[in-house]
Amino acid sequence: MSPAGEVVVDLGAVAANTAELARRAGSAQVMAVVKADAYGHGLVPCARAALAGGARWLGVAQLDEALALRAAGITAPVLAWLYGPGQPLDAVVAAGVDVSVAAPWALDAARGAAGRTGVPARVHLKVDTGLGRNGATTAEWPALVAAALAAQAEGAVEVVAAWSHFALADDPDHATVRAQERVFAEALAVGEALGARWPLRHLANSAATLTNPGAHLDLVRPGVAVYGLSPVPHLGDAASFGLRPAMTLSAPLALVKDVGAGQGVSYGHAHTTAGPTRLGLVPLGYADGIPRHAGSDSARPDVQPGGPVRVAGGTTRVAGRVCMDQFVVDLAGLPGAADAAAGDRAVLFGDGLDGSPTAEDWARAAGTIGYEVVTRISSRLPRRYVGGPGS
Ligand SMILES: *Cc1c(COP(=O)(O)O)cnc(C)c1O
Repeated sequence: MSPAGEVVVDLGAVAANTAELARRAGSAQVMAVVKADAYGHGLVPCARAALAGGARWLGVAQLDEALALRAAGITAPVLAWLYGPGQPLDAVVAAGVDVSVAAPWALDAARGAAGRTGVPARVHLKVDTGLGRNGATTAEWPALVAAALAAQAEGAVEVVAAWSHFALADDPDHATVRAQERVFAEALAVGEALGARWPLRHLANSAATLTNPGAHLDLVRPGVAVYGLSPVPHLGDAASFGLRPAMTLSAPLALVKDVGAGQGVSYGHAHTTAGPTRLGLVPLGYADGIPRHAGSDSARPDVQPGGPVRVAGGTTRVAGRVCMDQFVVDLAGLPGAADAAAGDRAVLFGDGLDGSPTAEDWARAAGTIGYEVVTRISSRLPRRYVGGPGS
C-alpha cells in the first residue's frame, strides 16, 4: 500500500459516458478502447462498465490485453491492433479475438494461427489513409486485400472490416480530415472491385465520434471520451460533450508545518514562501505518475504555474519541484489553512463538478494532454471502484 494515495474510478461515469457516445454514434456500433489498462483506469472493470453502457466491441493495442479480457470471461468482440512479426497469434485467434492486418507478414501470421488452431482468424484490414503510422500504404492495399480474400476463400481468415485512423481528428475542419475520408472511400472501393464486401468500416476515434458524424460509418472507436476526458479541450470541455471524468486522484497530507517567510521549498528551492505560512506534504510524486513538468517556479509562474491541488477548503498549486514520491503545497491564503492537519485529503484531480481540478487542468500545467496524465498514473496506487455493479 502507498501512504494512502488513492485512485477512485467511477464506473457509473464510464457506463454513462459510453451511453452518451453510443447515442451520438447513432446507428454506428461503439468499440470502447480499453488499451493501456483502460487509459490507467483498470482494464476489466472499465471494459465491463463500457459494455454495460452500450459498447458492443472492445479495442486494445496489445495481444495480452485482449487475452486478459477473455481470461476475465468477457465474450464481446475484441480487436487487437498492435503486434510484431514473430508474435504468434494462436492464442488470440483461438480466443476469438479479432486482429488488425496491415502487411503480408501479418496476414501470413493470421493464416498460420488459423491452420494450427482450426479457428478462422477474424481480421480487420488496415489502410494508412494519411496518418503515416500503422496501416498498409494505398500502393500496398490492393495486393493485401487480394491476399486476404484468397485466404478467406480457403477458409483461413474472415475479413471482418476495413479500417483506418485520423492524424488530425482533433482539428475537424483540417484539410487532412476530408482528405483521409476520401482516401478511405477509395480504398473501400478498390477492395470492393476485388470482391471484398466489408461487413464493417471504421475510422472514428473520440474526437471524430464527437465532432465528425460523417466519419462514424459502421463503428466508432472512442477511447479517452469513455473515461470522461474531452479529446478536443480547445473546442469544448468534457461537460460540454455530456461527459464526466471517471478518475479521481487524491492523497492525505503526510505532514503540515508552519514555516517563516523566505523558506525555499523542495529540491532546487524553485518555490520560496512569500510570508509566514503553512506547508502541506502530498505523498505523491513522479514515481506515481505525477508529471515532474507540473512543478512550479515562483520566479516564472507564467511558464511553470504548477499542477492544481484542492486542499484546505480551496485550490492551490504544487509548490516547487515534484519529487519521486512527494511534493509540497503552500497553504498561504487558503480558507482552511489554519485548521489544516496531516491526514487532510488533497485532491489532485477529479470530475471537476465539486470545484476540484481536472486531469485536463494538470495537462495544461504540465504542457501535455489529458490522455497522458491519466494513463501514466502508476499501478503502485490502488484503484478503488465505485458506481459499478457490486460496488
Ligand atoms: C487509441 C486509439 C483509439 C482511441 O483514441 P481516442 O483518441 O482515445 O479516442 C482509436 N483507434 C486507434 C487505432 C487507437 O490507437
